[in-house]
Amino acid sequence: MLQTRIDKLMALRSRAGVEAFYVTKPENRFYLSGFSGTAGALLLCSGGAFLLTDFRYLEQAGQESPHFKVIAATESLIEKLAALLKENKVTRLGCDGDHLSYNDFLKLKDRLVSVELIGTTGLVEELRLYKDSAEIKNIEEAVRLSDLAFEQVRPLIKPGTPEREIALQLEFAMRSKGAAGVAFDTIVASGPRSALPHGVASSRRLKKGDLVTMDFGAVYCGYHSDITRTAVVEEPAPWQRDIYSIVLEAQLKAIEAVSHGVKASAVDSAARDVITGMGYGEYFGHGTGHGLGLDIHENPRLSKKVDTVLQAGMVVTVEPGIYLPGRGGVRIEDVVVVSDSGCRVLTRTPKMRLEILS
Ligand code: ZN
Ligand code: ZN
Repeated sequence: MLQTRIDKLMALRSRAGVEAFYVTKPENRFYLSGFSGTAGALLLCSGGAFLLTDFRYLEQAGQESPHFKVIAATESLIEKLAALLKENKVTRLGCDGDHLSYNDFLKLKDRLVSVELIGTTGLVEELRLYKDSAEIKNIEEAVRLSDLAFEQVRPLIKPGTPEREIALQLEFAMRSKGAAGVAFDTIVASGPRSALPHGVASSRRLKKGDLVTMDFGAVYCGYHSDITRTAVVEEPAPWQRDIYSIVLEAQLKAIEAVSHGVKASAVDSAARDVITGMGYGEYFGHGTGHGLGLDIHENPRLSKKVDTVLQAGMVVTVEPGIYLPGRGGVRIEDVVVVSDSGCRVLTRTPKMRLEILS
């Protein structure tokens, strides 16, 4: 599987105008090599696939990346790289332009005088758009861990519980069930704070009648999940029911629109048209969703101006929302896998009625 990914990337060399790739971005490095260490770089050239890393990771690199020749680069990675480039007659080297720091770039430029460095930003990410079955399994497991955590933490949605306590218990539950970590800072935003699309959990205590937006995710084998549910503490008010049902309808319409061959912008419109049609368009200020995988936010973005055509194997979130400043907000988010005839929703936590969550 990893060899196929390398072959696909190598086939893009002429399009990118390079002879070899120097891969430093951790997600891309992991995607191509399976190496999960936090320091190291890949060199992919016609002479072979090399993994340069330091003493701490040599054994691990050998185990995780059997297709790579592991090069001990404890003293100076650049010197080892320079020798490999010379040996393999590389003169045009592609690098992760959006990851390589300016300082590292200067160092490389200084040392590799006869090599032209060319930014190949987004190239590995193009391959990462399509998830293979092993990747989908990992995302499914990450989603399952967040579903389990929510089920466990639901009784805490009651007056008096601090937002931070809900966040902590969600994170604890995901970790204790097997997550390697949390996908991002857990969002628990209650009462008027639920109008903040990204309100990280605070010390505010839940009150009767609050909307509570919980947005969280797990990491499993490097892959992310991302789920949002909005609940109300005890009895919902009519306006809360109204915006909840509009967001739910928008979300269901968008999920219905997801399919192989459909433009990302069309999925966004499917959700936006419902919300705008009900007069809340100005309160839905973000895109309808995003790809996810080794990164929590990846392409394709599901938003107004994105012409990317969805294809089977892509994994995206669908997460419209309405945020009323000073009052509260609702967002509902699921993870779906695009298929030939529609999509498969991975998230299982119920969402059909606000009361179910209260
Ligand atoms: Zn989210
Ligand atoms: Zn999201």
